Parts: sequence; C-alpha cells; structure tokens
Amino acid sequence: MKIAILSRNKNLYSTRRLIEACVQRGHEPMVLDVLRSYMEVVPSKPEVHFKGNVLDGFDAIIPRIGASVTFYGTAVLRQFEMMGAFPLNESVAISRSRDKLRSLQLLSRKGIGLPSTGFAHHPDDIQDLIKMVGGAPLVIKLLEGTQGIGVVLAETKKAAESVIEAFMGLKANIMVQEYIKEAGGADIRCLVVGEKVVAAMKRQALPGEFRSNLHRGGSASLIKITPSERATAVKAARIMGLNVAGVDILRSERGPLVMEVNSSPGLEGIELATGKDIAGMIIEFIEKNAKPNKTKTRGKG
Ligand code: ADP
Ligand code: MG
Repeated sequence: MKIAILSRNKNLYSTRRLIEACVQRGHEPMVLDVLRSYMEVVPSKPEVHFKGNVLDGFDAIIPRIGASVTFYGTAVLRQFEMMGAFPLNESVAISRSRDKLRSLQLLSRKGIGLPSTGFAHHPDDIQDLIKMVGGAPLVIKLLEGTQGIGVVLAETKKAAESVIEAFMGLKANIMVQEYIKEAGGADIRCLVVGEKVVAAMKRQALPGEFRSNLHRGGSASLIKITPSERATAVKAARIMGLNVAGVDILRSERGPLVMEVNSSPGLEGIELATGKDIAGMIIEFIEKNAKPNKTKTRGKG
C-alpha cells in the first residue's frame, strides 16, 4: 500500500517507527509535512499538492498532526478523505479530541467516568464555578493545552479565584476541574488500536509535581490495568471516533476517570515501557481496515 504519514519531521521517534513498520510490512511510506502540503479546492476534484506535484493514489493516511497546526493539518487530511484515502484517524475526530471541553462533553453523554468539570465565561460566576467542582484544591486547564503546559493546580480557593480571573482577563478558554488527589501524581496511558487496548503504561510525575506528562519529566512504567479501565479506554476512543488513541485515565476512589483522549499518541514512551511493536500494530490495523472512502464523514464534518 501507499501510505502517507502527515508529520512535520521524519526524524521524530513516532514517525521513524511508522516508516520502519511500513517498510517491514512491504508498504511504501511517504512523509508529508502538512504545512508544505497545499490544496486545490474545486468542484468534485479535490487535490493535494506538494512541492509542485499533485499527490495521488494514497491508500491510507497516518495523521501525526501537532497541536499547534490542528487547523491546517485537519484541512489537509480532510482533503485526502475527500479523495477517498483511508485516514487512520479522521479529521473530524481529531478536531474533536483537540478541544478538551468538547471531548469531555461527548464522553459525559455516554456516561464515561470523568473528573467533575466546569466551564464559565463571566468573572461573576467564578465563586459558583469553584463550588460546583468541589472547591480547592482544583485544576485549571487551557482547553487547547498539551504536554502539561497550561494545566495549573490551585491549592487554595484564593489561588483558584485569582488564576481563573487572570485567564478570563486574557480571554483564554479554560475549564476548571476537580483535583483527583488519590491519583498521587500518576495516570495511566492506555493505547487503543481498533477496539483493543494494545498497551498500557503508568506515568508518574516527578516529586512535588502533579502533572505526569513525560514532557514534564514524568517516568513511565509497565502496569496491569483492570477490566473496567480497559473497557473505559476502548469506549472512550470509540465515542471520540478515533481508531488509534491514547486514553489517559486517573485512578480514583470512584473508579477510572478519563482525563483526555489523544489522537496522536507518542509511541516512544509506550514502546519503551512495554517493549511492544505498537507501530507494527498500527500498520496491521491499516492493512485490515483501509478501504477507499471508508470514513464516517468522508470529509463532510
Ligand atoms: P495535557 O493535554 O497538557 O497533557 P492533561 O489534562 O492531560 O493536559 O493534564 C496533564 C497532567 O496533569 C495529567 O497527565 C495528570 O497527571 C495531571 N492532571 C490533569 N488533570 C488532573 C486532575 N483533574 N486531577 C489530578 N491530576 C490531573
Ligand atoms: Mg495529557
């Protein structure tokens, strides 16, 4: 198969592994920098161009679209979907997952366990917002943050008020969330491929830090997940419409709580922690599922 990997850098671990897995399994990978892909939007003949050439004939597209280029990246992917290529994750699902509030709203509709979360616009509502999520300590998050940047723990009510006020003053979109203390600075990353959790790791934050992101110095280790964590992760990925997802779960006294669902989960941490060939499993999923025009929305969303 001809497989396009939408990635800005072919030397990134995840991109390299996907290229390797393609080649190993007899496919033809091509890495495309989304920001250098451009589109002709004409009636009934969508095209993607790259360095003066028209790109055509891809059987599948693997989007690895960075958070900072979601808008442009999903437009390129949508164009490929309109051309009939099979997206590993489709553009609409990626857009959904990039907005933390939208994701939680979708998950809440289907009864997935979540940390209690609030969202407000007006400073006059801050007091009630804080009360709604159970008071301090609480977590304040930028809706489009990633890698732990834009996630703040406010230990006291006073701190929470001033941080929320400051973000509102800057017109930043934030949500306020119950702090799950018993998680102890750890979360569980479940890697879902298709309808299965193919690997899971525990990420533990550095001492004195509550964010377990590997980019924030968190450390990864192997973990055995419970059947309910497994079922929650699979269901969350399905609700988001993602074939491949990194579902992040907090272990709480009331069971697994989904914190977020990532549509471009990094492969390095999880492959090293588990010793599994996740890239190979992703390509295998594509082999089994790629068919022309096989998306839920065909770029319509
Ligand atoms: P990002 O997209 O920046 O990774 P997350 O929502 O995943 O943002 O939060 C980053 C980290 O902060 C999580 O991995 C987790 O360790 C910690 N964290 C986030 N929300 C909570 C919460 N409600 N309670 C406890 N810890 C949290
Ligand atoms: Mg996260």
